[in-house]
Amino acid sequence: MPTDFSPDAFLESLRKALPPGTVLAGSDIQAHHHADWSGTGAIAPLAVLRPGTTEEIATTLRICNTYGVAVVPHGGLTGLSGAAQPLANGIVLSLSRFNRIEQLDLAASTVTVQAGATLQTVQDALAEHRLQFGVDLEPRGTCQIGGLIACNAGGLNVIQHGTTRAQVISLECVLPSGEILPMRALPKNSTGYDLAQLFIGSEGTLGVIARAILKAVPAPSFRKTALLVLSGFDDALRVLTLLRGRLPRQIAAFEIMWNDFLGAVKRWIPVPIPFDPIPPVAALIEIVGDDDEVLQQALEEALGEGIERGWIDDAVIAASLAQAAQLWRLRDCVADLHSHMKPVNFDLSVPIPCIGVFRSALEKALTARWPEHRAYYFGHIGDGNLHIIVDATTLPAGTTPYDVEATIFAEVPAFAGSISAEHGIGTLKKPFLSACRNAAEIDAMRAIKRALDPNNIMNPGKIFD
Ligand SMILES: Cc1cc2nc3c(=O)[nH]c(=O)nc-3n(C[C@H](O)[C@H](O)[C@H](O)COP(=O)(O)OP(=O)(O)OC[C@H]3O[C@@H](n4cnc5c(N)ncnc54)[C@H](O)[C@@H]3O)c2cc1C
Repeated sequence: MPTDFSPDAFLESLRKALPPGTVLAGSDIQAHHHADWSGTGAIAPLAVLRPGTTEEIATTLRICNTYGVAVVPHGGLTGLSGAAQPLANGIVLSLSRFNRIEQLDLAASTVTVQAGATLQTVQDALAEHRLQFGVDLEPRGTCQIGGLIACNAGGLNVIQHGTTRAQVISLECVLPSGEILPMRALPKNSTGYDLAQLFIGSEGTLGVIARAILKAVPAPSFRKTALLVLSGFDDALRVLTLLRGRLPRQIAAFEIMWNDFLGAVKRWIPVPIPFDPIPPVAALIEIVGDDDEVLQQALEEALGEGIERGWIDDAVIAASLAQAAQLWRLRDCVADLHSHMKPVNFDLSVPIPCIGVFRSALEKALTARWPEHRAYYFGHIGDGNLHIIVDATTLPAGTTPYDVEATIFAEVPAFAGSISAEHGIGTLKKPFLSACRNAAEIDAMRAIKRALDPNNIMNPGKIFD
């Protein structure tokens, strides 16, 4: 930003170039835009821009680039890594008014959406045609397609459909210069670099995702949910292998909760746990298909084999949708658990067979430093994704989240893992990026950033400096 920068002249340029109501400044800016869900350092931006077309996004970026003003894209603000934290002398570009579903192509099984459409809107539109978007996650009513793409979100169905990266056919993106990279409705397009893929997981640092053509996958007619009692993680691996072998196309979720996590649920959340005592490990599994009876029989046979082989100690199969929802509530109550502690959250990734040993290494490292600490382990184990919540109220006074992060992330390189499976780096994990990306990788990322955003206006200070 030049030293003679005049905020008034800058805002005047935006107001002249954009329709009335697009530029909000001063007391018109809602506090909602000061931080994302992680609550990282709330900051009021200079202005909030609410464009309603791709051209208006392009105009906004062109003017910001000319003035050297930073732009932080805002989706639904459910991000957990501080990636949407505004800058005091920058603008927020909110996609919330650019939120329509433009086209559903049933022959191609794709849907074209504007980036501000919420996940729920997309799921509802597809459900009318017995289709679904392959990524689903808890804050579906708030998070937006642009935010999901910018974070390469994972969520509940990755084991079946992959992460957001696997759901994108094409993107329309606006570069910091205001130039538009068009999208194309081509499932196959082998003509050089796939620029859309660069924007997936870029956390708003390369440009703005304006529109997307997404895959729509068939929505299953029936779901079977079961909760399994296991004596340890090794049995979880055996059961996962059994289900992958017997029901490779039907397995839609394989979630693990260790007894510390279930103990916290029992203590604080009014939801029944169908086992007493709480087992060392419980697996919540879901299989999907189009024939209720066949599905039930396949599940019973697979679980029967697991029990016979001594890998499953006990199992409950939900007899109704209400019972299935109750089992899912055990796993989905993370946001409620947060309200009973001071959480330091982790979303780590290591190769699936290593998860048990990795968890033990983390427990050992935390105990060595803070014998009294309490931590809760769970995750999308079918995708190699281990979540941990460390309760900072159980740590000695003066311990910072950074201290906990440094302790946990120090264990990641030995397992060739990642410090973020699905939430992104943002500001919170930026100091630790080198725990899972080497110098050549970080240099390559910086070179791409410099090439597309030479004035460093797009979400500066996120992912890396
Ligand atoms: C209770 C809870 C549960 C969650 N569960 C999961 C889960 O299971 N799996 C998972 O992956 N995540 C999960 N999340 C995290 C979060 O929901 C996802 O990261 C989601 O993708 C963020 O979308 P958003 O629209 O809220 O993005 P925001 O928080 O608004 O933004 C996130 C990042 O994307 C950028 N961005 C947003 N829109 C655009 C755009 N159009 N163009 C360019 N950049 C953009 C922002 O600048 C920021 O860097 C959870 C969060 C909560 C609160």
